[in-house]
Amino acid sequence: MTHEQQLHGSAHHEAGHAVAYAHHGLTIGPITFHGHGPQGPGRASLHLPQSSGPWEGYAIGAAAGHRAEIEWMRRTGLLTPTREWAAEMHSDGDRVAADEVIRQCFGTPLTFGQSLEPSDWMWLCARADEIVVTQWEQVARVASVLVDAWSSGQVSVAPEALLLDSEGCS
Ligand SMILES: [Zn+2]
Repeated sequence: MTHEQQLHGSAHHEAGHAVAYAHHGLTIGPITFHGHGPQGPGRASLHLPQSSGPWEGYAIGAAAGHRAEIEWMRRTGLLTPTREWAAEMHSDGDRVAADEVIRQCFGTPLTFGQSLEPSDWMWLCARADEIVVTQWEQVARVASVLVDAWSSGQVSVAPEALLLDSEGCS
């Protein structure tokens, strides 16, 4: 992938988090771009202030990043098994965050494909997919705001600039 495509991939990853958190009524902080490192693609991160919200908001929101990135690759014809694997690998920090939430709520570690329960990463990814797909227009719009800001040298984007809309929430 080109640097430009990697930038779009990172933007969709963070946009997926932002939209899924907003969907659950969670307040987010700035989204920061870390630049293109020696390891390859430019990565970014979303700062989530400490607040109280539904556990599923945090856990599903954590799963929504790479799911949005993969959905973007699917829609643009860029998706290959290797790229899907790479997007999954880059969401390691997100899995750590989801594991913390699951341990606090259920007293058990996050599992991977072992059950259809909410304490399993596959369940969280399926819920994240539902939000990402039904709110794809918003994910794409937020991603384009991030791409524009990062391309013009703005490292950190305030949540107010994203005009997040939690409409369409169930
Ligand atoms: Zn992430």
